[in-house]
Amino acid sequence: MTDAFTVQGIPVTDLADRFGTPLYVYDAEVLADAYTELRRRLHPAVDIFYSAKANPNVSVCAVMRSLGAGLEVSSLAELATARWAGTAPDDVIFLGPGKSEEELRACLEYGIAAVVCESLEELETLDRLSPPGRRVLLRVNPAFTTKGARLSMGGKPRQFGIDHEMLLGSGSALRALRNVRVAGIHAYMGTRILDADGVVQNTAGILAAARELSAELGFPLETVDIGGGLGIAYFENEKDLDLDRLTDGVNAVVGEFAAEHPGCRVIMELGRYLAGRCGMYVVRARYVKRSKGEWFVVTDGGMNHHMAAVGVGSFVKRNFPIRSIDRHGELADRMYTVTGPLCTPDDVLGRRVALPEVRPGDLIGVERSGAYGPTSSPVLFLSHGYPAEVLVSGATAHLVRHRDTVGDLLGRQVLVDPPAPGPDPVTVTGTAQTVPE
Ligand SMILES: *Cc1c(COP(=O)(O)O)cnc(C)c1O
Repeated sequence: MTDAFTVQGIPVTDLADRFGTPLYVYDAEVLADAYTELRRRLHPAVDIFYSAKANPNVSVCAVMRSLGAGLEVSSLAELATARWAGTAPDDVIFLGPGKSEEELRACLEYGIAAVVCESLEELETLDRLSPPGRRVLLRVNPAFTTKGARLSMGGKPRQFGIDHEMLLGSGSALRALRNVRVAGIHAYMGTRILDADGVVQNTAGILAAARELSAELGFPLETVDIGGGLGIAYFENEKDLDLDRLTDGVNAVVGEFAAEHPGCRVIMELGRYLAGRCGMYVVRARYVKRSKGEWFVVTDGGMNHHMAAVGVGSFVKRNFPIRSIDRHGELADRMYTVTGPLCTPDDVLGRRVALPEVRPGDLIGVERSGAYGPTSSPVLFLSHGYPAEVLVSGATAHLVRHRDTVGDLLGRQVLVDPPAPGPDPVTVTGTAQTVPE
């Protein structure tokens, strides 16, 4: 956010009045800055791909496309989003451990840069469906473990990718391919990495694995996807990545690799790092109440739209940055637990958050909420549905997703008339009947 209370000069209170709450607001400038800052520093051999899953709104994807980012997608709808956002086929990759034949066919039909295969079994399926000569990347589950990730993906038994050791022994399977062409590897080590040196070490490890696999198995390295997983700071004890340190280190190892493999496209795929900081989740306080000496603000949105801020499943509840929108400049001298409207004690956006005095009707903003918001939340829980999403671009607010209506929520259900109640067994027989086997 340009500032917590205005987005490109538009007061958040105006946005809430115009579009209602709960509301996600995305600032296209902040989104663009995250990309260009990294792009400016990264080695030119590296292409940045945006991971649609972090925030798949088509207008967000279109901003990324307009800046020159590729798109990494993982479902039919995300692939369709890439087309809708205008991302060129050669700037799209598709990955995911359970791709359907329908998805694989759609990838082949659109002619994307590469399908990333996550198992030898999938590779066989793709080979059967593919016209000759199509490029494929193999996702490797590296033999080493992740440095500094909050959620690690490599080095352990996983549904993702093909174990490095197994790939080394799969020469005959690769030689048996009739249509697809293995042209590189992909690895993704984990998410929420805040340690720059960890990213550098992961990159060096993945590039080393790529060299070894290509040499042992005899496929060219036209593309190597080094993953990403760069984090942003959410909690009090966290600090944003040191971007200079990260890019100095990554550029050194990529530079060496690029000198040996001129023309090889190195992909870095990022979701949270690009989209996380551009978004704010805006809710309105409905009630301010006390329970056993503690103050609660009950708002109109919570876990159903922002599971990440609620942090269900985390060992300790830690708060995303949360602010009062209306009471700019007032001292944050009260402690509130900020909850949503759901009937579960888990629905807590922030516990013991310092805020200025909150009154019913006040707006509260959860910052750094541009990634893994509604699409990774249980939006149908209690049937509140999807919130509205607004993208502020060129100092204009655009509604980029309509809030779900009751009609949207019920329209996909089917009412089957319940069977007419049968005769009461007690009146029929005088005694309760046992159900025949
Ligand atoms: C989720 C995911 C990403 C994006 O992760 P971020 O941590 O948001 O950058 C990239 N690649 C793969 C394979 C993923 O599963």
